[in-house]
Amino acid sequence: MTFVAVIVAAGMGSRAGGAKQWRLLGGRPVARWSLEAMLAAGAADVVVVIPAGSEAQAARAFAGLDRWRTVPGGADRAASVRNGLAALAVTGETPVLVHDAARPLLKPAHVRRLLDALPGWDGAILALPAADTLKRVEGERIAATASRDSLWRAQTPQAFPLNRLRAAYARLPSDASATDEASVVEADGGTVRVVGGDPRLMKLTFPEDFAMAEALIPRQMRIGQGFDAHRWGDGEAVWLCGVRIDHNQTLVGHSDADAGLHALTDALLGALGEGDIGDHFPPSDPQWKGAASDRFVGHAVELLRARGGAVINADVTLICEQPRIKPHRPAMRARLAELLGVSLDAVSVKATTTEGMGFTGRQEGLAAQAVVSISLPSRASSESRG
Ligand code: MG
Repeated sequence: MTFVAVIVAAGMGSRAGGAKQWRLLGGRPVARWSLEAMLAAGAADVVVVIPAGSEAQAARAFAGLDRWRTVPGGADRAASVRNGLAALAVTGETPVLVHDAARPLLKPAHVRRLLDALPGWDGAILALPAADTLKRVEGERIAATASRDSLWRAQTPQAFPLNRLRAAYARLPSDASATDEASVVEADGGTVRVVGGDPRLMKLTFPEDFAMAEALIPRQMRIGQGFDAHRWGDGEAVWLCGVRIDHNQTLVGHSDADAGLHALTDALLGALGEGDIGDHFPPSDPQWKGAASDRFVGHAVELLRARGGAVINADVTLICEQPRIKPHRPAMRARLAELLGVSLDAVSVKATTTEGMGFTGRQEGLAAQAVVSISLPSRASSESRG
């Protein structure tokens, strides 16, 4: 079914600490979550109402998405929605969904539920029956206990035939304020139904709500593994897992040849599906000559954080006959924990010889293996798998 949408992202969110629509949630701007979900549900056209002057910010926040436009908001919510409705190119009974960007955890299933419920009604909204006992409070004193029977908490999106909602807004007195669209249509004599909402469609109102929303984002765990080897050559020290060790040889490479950090970088890139260390730091590029390899790990960690991810743990194995690793293990773990932003117990450094066999046994070179696990937000537009 063809439908269009208006996403209201014009409020500055003073109670939530300002401009919450652009704040990152799970690595993505808050307003982008709703836009992605509307597009994934098949919206033909989405108008996002934003604060006047924040067009460039919106363009960055919505980069790579299509079928969206922005219009500046008005003095209050009703004025903002009016602007959004006016900007929609369609007419007639096409369903329009109006949604608050402050409810980012929207899923295509919510949209389908509303579209299925709308025919025959002037509107359909997502709502939850009030579960808590409701108190009327004056100051700190309870003045009355209200019956919660038949009381529901309205959420968004709210769906209406476009011509019906436009007509209701046209007849809304210009000085009247409205906190949702259903109340505008009700005031205009329309019949609006409720369909089951979702507690995860919580509204980001107070600063602490962001932590709760982060916890509600479906996340996936991923594993990555990496392997690296470098040849021994003349030198007096070697870098391993970000620690300089005095030794009668060094590892030869374009950078500092820290095989432990190279394997770890590849493990991180592998978990992200972002290629390998050679793609990001080509050996042909002179700027990486002699580079400290903690920059490579730092780059992979930045890619991870940009996607709202975090390292869970890392396990590195160094394969060599010499030098002895054990005395340096605490320093290596501490450095890796620092680079990855995790606690010490989430990092392991192990060492083994190959009992004289193979290239490491013949002391031609040193090899390193790494395994990492990461947690990454699932895409808002993909359906929950559980
Ligand atoms: Mg290497």
